[in-house]
Amino acid sequence: MRVDILGITVNTYSMRETVEKIRLSVENQVRTRVVTANPEMIYASNQDQRLRELINSADIITADGIGVVWAARQLGTPVQERVTGIDLVQSLFPIANAQKWRLFFLGGKPGVVEKAIKQVVQKYPEIDLKGHHGYFSLEEENRVLRDILAFQPDVLLVGLGAPRQEYWLAQHPQLATVSIGVGGSFDALAGIVIRAPKRLQEFHLEWLYRLWKEPRRWKRQTVLPRFVIKVLLQGIGRKTP
Ligand code: UDP
Repeated sequence: MRVDILGITVNTYSMRETVEKIRLSVENQVRTRVVTANPEMIYASNQDQRLRELINSADIITADGIGVVWAARQLGTPVQERVTGIDLVQSLFPIANAQKWRLFFLGGKPGVVEKAIKQVVQKYPEIDLKGHHGYFSLEEENRVLRDILAFQPDVLLVGLGAPRQEYWLAQHPQLATVSIGVGGSFDALAGIVIRAPKRLQEFHLEWLYRLWKEPRRWKRQTVLPRFVIKVLLQGIGRKTP
């Protein structure tokens, strides 16, 4: 089931359902592109038809953040819970470990992705992991593409920032069975960015914690009130016959 939020058709799946879909895609070798859609991305795509079509053409679009969960409820088709990029990645690791999947991490500053790989391999030694930082030139890009293709990942995680990673993944669908845009997840996996304490996450206040820790996000978050207003207007339009 999907809910249309400002033109983006977000899946209503829970985390468990999303993980299960991805597991089946890997098992059955079904190419699957996943977008974790946060309010900024949804708002941007509302203004940009090309981006909107590109996101909507993904096989799975998850509700990345409490703002999207709220919007879905407002619009009458609740999603079960938020499915953020980093939570999805963390939830995939135990299965990837049990099934000995090949994972490729692309993105993050040089040094960061190596650190992320080290942390993950320590905990999940059966995952076959490779990666590359996300600051490659156009000339280097061909080599990066060849590296990924040669590795034949079951799952390719791309953290180049949105929407660049979404364009990049749509442009290179042949690289892996499952591909997921994961934003700044490698920074979190490497321990460069510390996530909000669990209590704050439970109270849906992780966004506030991130604003406090990364004040540069203030500018990006100014989109949130506009997102809220647009969703409320969409809700009114829906109710008016
Ligand atoms: N990044 C990258 N290459 C670039 C620009 C950004 O790999 O050319 C990485 C950056 O290091 C960071 C991620 O993309 O790890 C973007 O993180 P951010 O938290 O801004 O993304 P979000 O999760 O909000 O989409």
